[in-house]
Amino acid sequence: MEDSVKKNILDVFNSQKEYFNSYKMLNVKNRIEALKKLKKNIMIMLPKIYEALKIDLNKSENEAYMTEVGIVLTEINYMLKNIRSFARPKRVASPITQFHAKSYMIPSPYGSALIISPWNYPFMLSIDPLVDAISAGNSAVIKPSEISPHVSDVIKELIDMTFERGHVDVVLGGVEECTELLNLDFDYIFYTGSTRVGEIVMKHAAEHFTPVTLEMGGKSPCIVDETTNIELTAKRIVFGKFLNCGQTCVAPDYLYCHSSIKDKLVKEIERQIVLQYTVDPIHNPDYPKMINIKQFNAMNSLIKEDNVIFGGKSDESSLKIEPTILESNFQADDMKNEIFGPILPVLTFENLDEAIQNVKKLNPPLALYIFSSRKENQNKVINSIQFGGGCINDTIIHIASNRLGFGGVKQSGIGTYHGKLGFDTFSHYKSIVDKKTWLDLPMRYQPYKKFNMKIVKWFLK
Ligand code: NAD
Repeated sequence: MEDSVKKNILDVFNSQKEYFNSYKMLNVKNRIEALKKLKKNIMIMLPKIYEALKIDLNKSENEAYMTEVGIVLTEINYMLKNIRSFARPKRVASPITQFHAKSYMIPSPYGSALIISPWNYPFMLSIDPLVDAISAGNSAVIKPSEISPHVSDVIKELIDMTFERGHVDVVLGGVEECTELLNLDFDYIFYTGSTRVGEIVMKHAAEHFTPVTLEMGGKSPCIVDETTNIELTAKRIVFGKFLNCGQTCVAPDYLYCHSSIKDKLVKEIERQIVLQYTVDPIHNPDYPKMINIKQFNAMNSLIKEDNVIFGGKSDESSLKIEPTILESNFQADDMKNEIFGPILPVLTFENLDEAIQNVKKLNPPLALYIFSSRKENQNKVINSIQFGGGCINDTIIHIASNRLGFGGVKQSGIGTYHGKLGFDTFSHYKSIVDKKTWLDLPMRYQPYKKFNMKIVKWFLK
């Protein structure tokens, strides 16, 4: 890496520390001003944001608003409404042993947060955590993905026109720049991306004892029992699976359905694909593309001569792959890693307990979906499998609520964000006992006396 790039990263880091230590953002009014300015500038930059998402991922304006800009604006509005109450010290009762005292917890910003983001929802996954970080009073550096370069450039422009240097900065670049940032002693690291890189991030964080949130992925199952409403199930699976051409961390990765409904369900999914994406999705201007040739080839390697039930065609010049359904089993190549593309493997089970045991053999997924009309089956699946979050009788919509936390478990993630949980993620709660001075009970002090011990035991029972 060139010395000038290294120096720029170090300058950014130093100005972040300096800005945070000016204590400007301890004042909630200043945070509100910053959020308002961010919202205003996003609206000004909207055409450029749409254009960049079109170039990098062929996202239509509808999809760009629904899954990127709109989610960010909702998060900003939610914070603007609630930030004063979130930032207030939280009073708690004091134990009688500490009479007379006032006890409370102060949500305090960590300092300078490093936000590392991926390419699939490149705008939302950079700015959404930023909103939570600055609402909590932190300064922040965003390292957007080098794989979605047009959106990364727009993010830099937006941040530079909105924030003072040191409050929020953007460092462009790839692995080298990210490694250089990870070597520095940031006060918080918020990472979204693959589990493989998550492990690297966590190792760096351990060197400085830096707290982390890791938002990763995994194979999110979509379990469908024989009691489901086939038409609605198929419609909602197609929406969640093929949005952004399957490049969604919470997309249903594979369909795991009761053998008795498989044929009917698959037929209905095929019909829904045509209804939602036309008979020729590759030439549908609103159907996104694979991000690059590497991902395009990775998907095509899963499509074989003998496993295609539906779709399977692709066009290298536009990097588009048809919504594709594959016949599969737990030993198949498409069941080895997270798919992250428009391919839906179909597996079947005979009884739900066996299905649960099979899902549990894989790492805990980021999301899980259960389609069933039977409450007992819904509860059994939700309660017996570890996963980040999910839906009953729908897909992916759980991530679009400020009132629900979003995050995974173990290999799919550590920590949560969105709304109040996002504010808390970027806050350290300082526990304070404000002890009054008019009274000073003697029991805790030496020399210890038998009678005092009796009182201590009474207090501490
Ligand atoms: P990635 O891990 O390759 O990259 C993420 C970020 O890490 C990028 O900014 C990249 O520059 C940086 N990076 C890559 N390699 C690095 C290295 N060796 N050292 C330091 N930094 C490095 O992820 P991706 O391909 O951009 O995204 C796809 C993955 O992200 C999928 O697994 C998906 O499930 C997951 N994801 C999770 C969420 C979530 O919210 N949980 C959201 C979107 C994507």
